[in-house]
Amino acid sequence: MSQNTHLIYLDHAATTPVDPRVLEVMIPYFTDFFGNPGGVYTMGRKAARAVDDAREMTAEILHCRPTEVIFTAGGSESDNLAIKGISASLRKRGGHIITSSIEHHAVLHTCQALEQQGFTVTYLPVDSFGKVRVEDVEQAITPETILVSIMTANNEIGTIQPIADIGAILRPKRIAFHTDAVQAAGYLDLNVAHMQVDALSLSSHKFYGPKGVGILYLRTGQRITPQIHGGSQERNRRAGTENVAGIVGAAYALQLAQQEREQESARLAKLRDMLIQKLTNTIPNILLTGSTVDRLPNNASFAIKGIEGEALLLNLDVAGIAASSGSACTSAVIDPSHVLVALGVGAEYNRGHLRLTMGHSTTEEDILHTAEALPPMIESLRSLGSPAATADR
Ligand SMILES: *Cc1c(COP(=O)(O)O)cnc(C)c1O
Repeated sequence: MSQNTHLIYLDHAATTPVDPRVLEVMIPYFTDFFGNPGGVYTMGRKAARAVDDAREMTAEILHCRPTEVIFTAGGSESDNLAIKGISASLRKRGGHIITSSIEHHAVLHTCQALEQQGFTVTYLPVDSFGKVRVEDVEQAITPETILVSIMTANNEIGTIQPIADIGAILRPKRIAFHTDAVQAAGYLDLNVAHMQVDALSLSSHKFYGPKGVGILYLRTGQRITPQIHGGSQERNRRAGTENVAGIVGAAYALQLAQQEREQESARLAKLRDMLIQKLTNTIPNILLTGSTVDRLPNNASFAIKGIEGEALLLNLDVAGIAASSGSACTSAVIDPSHVLVALGVGAEYNRGHLRLTMGHSTTEEDILHTAEALPPMIESLRSLGSPAATADR
């Protein structure tokens, strides 16, 4: 095996570095034009103008009006604001929410919090590829249903959902439709009219922008109860002094991501397919998780029999490869990922989740090196007999 001297970063679904072009446009708003956009003096107006420009740029990409764009402090906040804010504003109409069982925790835990407040939530199952069935959404609707939240693309397995088809069912029924599009921004078209959504969440650090900046598209006419009270920023929908540099960076990063997405998607899909082919050919008892067709171009994820994902990640780290696993190590036990459980991946496999997500820095060499490094690591973990493997016997 060739010696690897640089870090191979295969965790772009967790976060991405700030693109140097993005950092460059942000810097003046930390130093020269630091004024509060609420200020009436020139420097404040300059900051307000930058936020307005960022809002217009974002609206152009989403094919919406600038007034329909709300800047938040991240993807989690956008999801919370959409789900809590819309359901509170529609409480009188009904108390039923529909979501899927494979959503990000920012959606799942928000729905669970609403259940504590008396809302009823249906968590739809998915098929073995991780897809929500449009018929299931339709069948789950009751006269009490006020909101549906289904993610555009899954963060663990990369499965892309039929958002426009779901939107087409909900719109005539006047049920609000929110989608968490955080993982989709770099790779899919974000035209909110085509998607037929009323609300859409984005997070800047997933597309080479700064961390702690989120975007929420909210369709005109869709009411929302603010979750942060204070000043009148964001048209009274989200109080707090605008993160001017962050907003400038997020909008520019989104523009770059959308301009470059077709070319980058084609490049990464080739690397993804090469990696999937090599690993499934060389490692016995490994399953590709997710869809082979409706899949993000940068996601390769697997369930590996008889190992624990966390142990594999530590081995990869020693070899200079950063990857991740959906399973979370809470206390002493390893919980299998809720996504793999929803897919119906069996107990022998679902602790061995491996997610490799590619991005700007990923080269063919990185993929070849990773494909070479993994088989002996997995073989040795299996022969050591990790607790998961022992439990199977
Ligand atoms: C990362 C992520 C989030 C959370 O975004 P933050 O900006 O980290 O709060 C929400 N949903 C999905 C699908 C994500 O991948």
